[in-house]
This record gives sequence, structure tokens and C-alpha cells, in this order.
Amino acid sequence: MKIAFLFGRDLRLQDNQALSYAASIATELLPLYVVPEDFDELSPIRQHSLVESLASLSDSLPMGLEITSEKLPEAVKGLSGIDKVVATRAFDTTGMLFQAALAEQLYDQGIALELVGSNYAVSPGTIVKDDLTPLKVYTPFYKRWLAHGWDEPYKLDVESVNWVRPTKTQYPKPSGPAPITIRAGEAFALRTFRRFQKRALADYSENRNRPDLSGTSHLSHALAHGEIHPRTLLAELGEGHEVFRKEIAWREFYADVLYRNPHTLYDYFEPRFQKMRYADPAVDSAALEAWKAGKTGYPIVDAAMRQLNQTGWMHNRSRMIVASFLVKDLHFEWQLGARYFEKKLTDFDPASNSHGWQWTAGCGTDASPYYRVFNPVLQGVKFDPNGDYVRKFVPELRHIDRCQGPRALGANRWLPARLPGADC
Ligand SMILES: Cc1cc2nc3c(=O)[nH]c(=O)nc-3n(C[C@H](O)[C@H](O)[C@H](O)COP(=O)(O)OP(=O)(O)OC[C@H]3O[C@@H](n4cnc5c(N)ncnc54)[C@H](O)[C@@H]3O)c2cc1C
Repeated sequence: MKIAFLFGRDLRLQDNQALSYAASIATELLPLYVVPEDFDELSPIRQHSLVESLASLSDSLPMGLEITSEKLPEAVKGLSGIDKVVATRAFDTTGMLFQAALAEQLYDQGIALELVGSNYAVSPGTIVKDDLTPLKVYTPFYKRWLAHGWDEPYKLDVESVNWVRPTKTQYPKPSGPAPITIRAGEAFALRTFRRFQKRALADYSENRNRPDLSGTSHLSHALAHGEIHPRTLLAELGEGHEVFRKEIAWREFYADVLYRNPHTLYDYFEPRFQKMRYADPAVDSAALEAWKAGKTGYPIVDAAMRQLNQTGWMHNRSRMIVASFLVKDLHFEWQLGARYFEKKLTDFDPASNSHGWQWTAGCGTDASPYYRVFNPVLQGVKFDPNGDYVRKFVPELRHIDRCQGPRALGANRWLPARLPGADC
């Protein structure tokens, strides 16, 4: 059987359940990628990060990867001679809509679409309460998710597959040069994981909240593009490292929540919060633009936004601080921030982004909703105690002495005489 394997958010060869399945039933296998329609709307960093992932995947395939930037239905018109298309099943709103449209187009050409596996250790829609309803709260979800367990990583003997040579490889064109060096791909993802295991995993629970340290895995880009599967990570963690496993589970929880509530990609999980009064972006555009540019005057907020603009990534603590600031201090609706993140984040993940925003905005799955406000000054004092993070991304504050630190930045009222962590 001649099969086309359609890569999506699973840009890897190993531990790819759907690809292993396709290889097991194919006499000939065409590896194919259709560039997402919103590519031109993304920031150059995000565009380059996808191109790098595709280039790395293509290099690792003996015959290379077929890439088309055409939209449906043109994208699949040339698939004559193919008996079946196999892909990893999408569970996010946009991915599900794309696969539904794809199935229709293929059906018209007499080609079947088979969707297999998922980009999660436990596929969204699997974990339920005893009464078979979905879970809306993370901790009980985590307990059931852990008890459910997951498969061992899937292996593929790449050389034994009869790959079809692509007829076209049309890389999408980024709208500008890459402002930073971007490294991506399956091999790089594995190296990143190995380095994290040696470098930071042991101290993860202590350092993961500190944007001034490199205490986290930096695997979010790889997970979002599917250069590594969470199964691969979980298999190596074994029984230990619960704090890190719990973070992986947040990604799985949000995927489950979005799958069960596809409208919450851009809509309120708790609709009553839609009725609150919000700032009007047309009227208060200066405040919104200052937030985007990292020019609010709040050092940790500005450092975080500039980290996003310059690198395409932002630390989790910083994401919570800037999201809280946008919604609870500037009073904008969370979607404005989520859309900006979507454009910029190289690790953009629809479920983690929409529900990370809604959690922080207080209209999502958090049990203590709108009255939890992150004080942007105290957060800086606590999680960037020496001001190193601010100094790195806000050059106009570099001259401020580390012992003056946050005190000089306007936090006098709340600060103890000696700053925690500052050796002065
Ligand atoms: C407002 C907001 C928006 C966010 N948008 C995204 C997004 O678009 N894409 C994205 O991958 N993550 C998002 N997150 C979650 C989190 O900030 C990033 O996953 C994390 O910062 C990535 O860095 P890391 O890989 O070093 O994380 P680590 O701390 O090393 O965690 C390992 C992995 O666990 C997962 N993870 C960790 N924390 C979370 C979390 N809170 N929610 C969901 N998954 C988590 C990620 O896949 C991450 O790569 C968002 C969080 C907030 C508050």
C-alpha cells in the first residue's frame, strides 16, 4: 500500500506512534508536510523556528521531506497514486478543523485519512471522573493521569522503510531575517533533554521559578513542534522527579480542557467573566503597545516582554507576571495577550497558551480566580532577587547596583532591610 505520512506537530521520526504504524503497513511511504495557513502572520523568529524544524526533519529522512505551502484543497491534489494518508490525530481546535477539512478533500479523491495516536502521553479525552465526566481541576486530573500510565516509546527502523522521493520541497519564506540563531530538530531536542538531566533536573523544584537562572528544561519548543514526545521524557524520569512530571502533566491537562471545550481557544472558559468591564484597546492603545514593547516602567514586566520579543521564549514565572499585569493592572481582556504570544512564541501551543492565559486572568481552571493578582514589584523581588534578569533585558537599568536592586526600582515600602539572596 502506498501511503503518505502527513507530519504536523510531530516533527520527528522516533517515538512517533502514527509514523511507526504507517511504516508498518506501507510498501512505499511519502513523508509530507503542509505549511500552516497562518505562517505569514507569525513573527520572523517563529517562522524561522518552524523552518529550522522542517530542515532538520528533512535532513534526517533518507529521501528528504515533501513540503507544500499550498492551501487545501490544492495541497493534496497531487496525491494521486496514494492509497491512504496517515497522521497523528490533532486534539486542538485549529488542528481538528484542519484534519476534518483534509478528510473531506481526500475522500473526494478516494483516499482515506487515518488518524493515530497523539502528541500526549495520555490522549486528551481519556481521563474522566468516576461518572465519566471530564475533570476541570488539575490535581485530580494529575492523579488519574498518573494512575492511567502511558506506552513505552515507539521505535522506528528508518533504514528499513521504503521512502518515496519527494517531488517538491517548498520551504515557507520567513518575512525577515532571523534575529537570533535558532537551533531545532529531533537530535537537538534529545541533546537539550540530556543537558537538562545533567545540568538542572536535580534542582528543578528549587530553581524552576527563577527567570534569572536557567533552571528549566527549555524543551517547550521541541514539545510544541513535536521534535520530542512526552513519552520519551517520562520513560527516562522513572518514578522520581515528580515536580518536573507535574509540569508535563499541566500540558496534558490543558490539552484535555481545550479538547473538551474547543471554543475556549479564544473564548472564556468561565463565561461570566466576559461580562466584566475591560479597557478598550482602541482607546488605551498606548498602554497596550507599551506592554507589548516592554516599556511599561515595571522592570520585571519589561524584562519579560523584551525576552519574548528578542528570543521568542519567556520563562513561565514571567509569563504569569506579564499576563496578570495585562489583565489585572491594565484591565485588558486576556485574548489580546494570548494573540500576541501566539505570534511571537516559538513554543506556541494552543492549549497551554489559551489556558495559561485564562488561568492567570482568573477566568480559566484556577480555583482562586479573579482576586489573585501578581504584584509586579514583589514578584521581581522574590524571583529576580539580584535584578540579573532585569539587567539582562533592560539595558537602561543595568547601572543600578545589585544591592540597591528592587529598592531603587520603587519597592521601598514592602522590602526588608536586607534583600533575600543579595550578598551586600
Ligand atoms: C500566559 C501563559 C502562556 C503560556 N503559553 C504557552 C505556550 O504557548 N506553549 C507552551 O508550551 N507553554 C506555555 N505556557 C506554559 C509555560 O510557561 C511553558 O511551557 C514553559 O515556560 C516552557 O519552558 P520550559 O520548557 O523550560 O519548561 P519546564 O519548566 O522545563 O517544563 C517542561 C515542560 O512542561 C510543560 N509545562 C511546564 N509548565 C507548564 C504550564 N504552566 N502549562 C502547560 N505546560 C507546561 C511544557 O511543555 C514544558 O516544556 C504558558 C504559560 C502561561 C502562564
